[in-house]
Amino acid sequence: MSHEPFDTLAAVYAVGALDGGDLARFEAHLREGCSTCETIVRESSEALAGLARERPPVIPPAHVREALIRRVDASSRPRTSRRRWIPWALGTAAAAVAAAAFTAGMVASRYEARLGVLARETAQVREQLRREQALLREEVAAARAVADLLRMPATRVVALNGLAAAPTASGRIIWHDQAGGRLYVNGLPPAPEGKTYELWTIAGAAPRPAGTFDVDTAGRASRPVMPPDDGPVKVFAVTLEPAGGVPAPTGPMVLASAK
Ligand SMILES: [Zn+2]
Repeated sequence: MSHEPFDTLAAVYAVGALDGGDLARFEAHLREGCSTCETIVRESSEALAGLARERPPVIPPAHVREALIRRVDASSRPRTSRRRWIPWALGTAAAAVAAAAFTAGMVASRYEARLGVLARETAQVREQLRREQALLREEVAAARAVADLLRMPATRVVALNGLAAAPTASGRIIWHDQAGGRLYVNGLPPAPEGKTYELWTIAGAAPRPAGTFDVDTAGRASRPVMPPDDGPVKVFAVTLEPAGGVPAPTGPMVLASAK
């Protein structure tokens, strides 16, 4: 038997469009160790893999189509017994090209979906890194500011004691009368809905608002404090106030420094 029919069978086999008796016949032939067919199958598979990498997919890809047509041509050289073979080969080759295009389309769309997922994941990781970096920069800046304060001889540490409204709370303010300082709070319960904590400095006749803050889940908070313009601070205090803060204290006092 001539080898010619196997040329086409190999190309069709490579795109997974061979079935029935042809499939059995071709696989039996492959098992006999035909290097020609092995080469055709490998080349066709590589052409398909190349097609899958093309974006957007070319349908049908020129090199796959040409390879198939070459093989169909090779197996349709004039010969009396070719008559039945030619239409079968052409029909099967067309089916193979369609299968190749379909497969490539599937691979390309799955590939694109995977790329989309990767792009979203990358964007999420980048955003998370950006937030973490911003947080770290803030913490480093705060630590540097405190270190600078501690180098100044006039800097003192003021203790804040929890009052009846928050007996477990405590706090410290690292303070310099001209440079200001930083407040640290521990053990404060989370402010109720619609409320916030507000720090006050008392230097003159009336308390001055020195910023609002909320605590984390562990009851901790930290924030910078600017020096008031009415002289050295005699007392620091924290009250519970409406969200956003108020210009003069209205709520219960939770922390205060000793007078
Ligand atoms: Zn062969």
